[in-house]
Amino acid sequence: MSINLLGFDLEGLAAYCQGLGEKRFRAVQLYRWIHQRGEADFARMSDLAKSLRVRLDGVALVQGLPPLSEHRSADGTVKWLFDVGAGDAVETVFIPEADRGTLCISSQAGCAVGCRFCSTGHQGFSRNLGTAEIVAQLWAAEHRLRAALSLPEGRRAIDNVVMMGMGEPLQNYAALLPALRTMLDDHGYGLSRRRVTVSTSGVVPMIDRLRQDCPVALAVSLHAPDDALRDALVPLNRKYPLDELLAACERYLSAAPRDFITFEYCMLDGVNDAPEQARALLRLVRDRLPCKFNLIPFNPFPASGLRRSPPERVQAFARVLQDGGLVTTVRKTRGDDIDAACGQLAGEVQDRTQVAARRARAAGLAGRVIPIAGPGPAVAGRP
Ligand code: SAH
Ligand code: SF4
Repeated sequence: MSINLLGFDLEGLAAYCQGLGEKRFRAVQLYRWIHQRGEADFARMSDLAKSLRVRLDGVALVQGLPPLSEHRSADGTVKWLFDVGAGDAVETVFIPEADRGTLCISSQAGCAVGCRFCSTGHQGFSRNLGTAEIVAQLWAAEHRLRAALSLPEGRRAIDNVVMMGMGEPLQNYAALLPALRTMLDDHGYGLSRRRVTVSTSGVVPMIDRLRQDCPVALAVSLHAPDDALRDALVPLNRKYPLDELLAACERYLSAAPRDFITFEYCMLDGVNDAPEQARALLRLVRDRLPCKFNLIPFNPFPASGLRRSPPERVQAFARVLQDGGLVTTVRKTRGDDIDAACGQLAGEVQDRTQVAARRARAAGLAGRVIPIAGPGPAVAGRP
């Protein structure tokens, strides 16, 4: 079976090429063709030594994920559904903003953590994605968007990556790490370490591993100011309670270069959104570590039995945190019309029989669904 080169970070590719009898600089050339130019065909990598092209043929390939659909929202948000085989699909979302383009990437098909308010969690866990499947989301999105937006040579479409799609990235660490390295590598996507964010529900030992291995930004999904409530919302809290989690965050920041932790907090009506709970949060974190809060209005889904906090309650909660000296933002909901918002990255792992039906539908769909036809990009310009 051929090996998919999207699964290697630069060191991995260099070792692989060395195994074929090729020097490191050839691996750098190959890596740049793949990630910076989006080229998958070895024959078209014009300055790559013929000897290497010949050696790669038949043993290696550059293989993206088959897209099942591509939806474009009125606000410019684009959501792709990628087929990862055996009836599983994962979602990737592009969010254009005035000053940057953000890609939200999935790390697993489903998720084993099972948070109460998360539709991915409600589906259960199917499997970990491989490094190639994680990187393929960025590879496809970057190069499709570059063409679709007619960006000039050297301009990139995506300059911010958040591991906030389906899955718990720190429960798929072995595949995640080389993917992060490719995102940061100057020969790969060259993203700033501040603009690659791993979001976690709190897998403490893996926060420590990440601290040693890779200088990316960390977002921690907090959702509650005390263990009793967090146990109920994020079951992983029973294994790694708040005090241990915050200690891991402190250790994370102690390893330079790191600036602050972003705490995500999903606002659930009558559950975790009272001003007293905001005050408890302040007491919990303020004197302990540099941090920011990102309040996410809950995106409801039928099986959750939960409601979104009213905007005035979210604002009042934000004010308590801000008055206490913490930078606090309220996340805008984007792509609502295509269900691309947080926690609606439902993917499809629960209905394994549906992929064929979806393919058929995608072939003849009207409305906002843009069928994937051939290699050309199907998205239109930025708003
Ligand atoms: N597993 C990781 C990353 C994926 S979830 C984590 O939990 O951090 C990305 C973010 O979306 C998390 O902060 C998560 O709590 C939030 N989220 C999940 N479901 C949501 C929903 N229905 N509404 C709003 N935010 C949600
Ligand atoms: Fe998994 Fe994150 Fe959803 Fe929790 S919020 S179930 S950890 S994807």
